Amino acid sequence: MTTDWLLLFAGLLGLAVGSFLNVCIYRVPLEQSLLLPGSRCMVCNRSLRWFENVPVVAWIVLRGRCRTCHTSIPVVYPLVEAFTGIMFVWATWHYGPGWLLFSRLLLGCALVVLFFIDLHHRILPNVITVPGTIIGFILSFVTPPGWVSSLVGLVIGGLIPLVLAEVYLRVRKVEGLGMGDVKMLALVGAFLGWKLVLLTLALGSFLGSAVGLGLIVARRGDMKLALPFGTFLAIAAAVSATVGDQIIIWYLGFYR
Ligand SMILES: [Zn+2]
Repeated sequence: MTTDWLLLFAGLLGLAVGSFLNVCIYRVPLEQSLLLPGSRCMVCNRSLRWFENVPVVAWIVLRGRCRTCHTSIPVVYPLVEAFTGIMFVWATWHYGPGWLLFSRLLLGCALVVLFFIDLHHRILPNVITVPGTIIGFILSFVTPPGWVSSLVGLVIGGLIPLVLAEVYLRVRKVEGLGMGDVKMLALVGAFLGWKLVLLTLALGSFLGSAVGLGLIVARRGDMKLALPFGTFLAIAAAVSATVGDQIIIWYLGFYR
């Protein structure tokens, strides 16, 4: 297959996968089946016809409304589909076919779903983080930086935050870091290894603090406002997976 055809295939696959990620984002927190029933309008409950399930195109053609009850369909749905399509094309171009591409796409899909579920519900479901950590560790045997780094990464990702969470709980008497965050860090560690999970924790904390301070300054929240830390971790992990090694080299340059 020539590169052009491969990228086209990756894009179409990504759009279809993005459509499935929307189903996960909506149904996993409600503990509903991902396969049955088929896609429905969330308001009038009518089953969608095949052409209403075509990623991105259906939303544009229907002008973002249900054909029966005319309820508007949030623009985030086609955006998730388009983003996933672009992610598949970019990753295929960047990594080329192989286990690393497969591993990075799997991580990317998990991060998209966790990003939105934590944003909407402030939870990071075990059904994603626990199997994700196991799959990440298994894939580390055939992808860089190797299984030792992956094992250390999932221990660091899981263990250090666990200690921090326990200390914070004892000192402040409130839960600063949820167990969901810890499991998500273990997943990131399993996929990316110990260096990049530390970078993810640092970037995620920085991002979360910056947004938190911004909200306090804008007087739109107070100190106890629960920010979706998993959402920040998802952004941080995506940055670490793509340009993390360069960031670490740049940072260590200051110590020479
Ligand atoms: Zn409807």
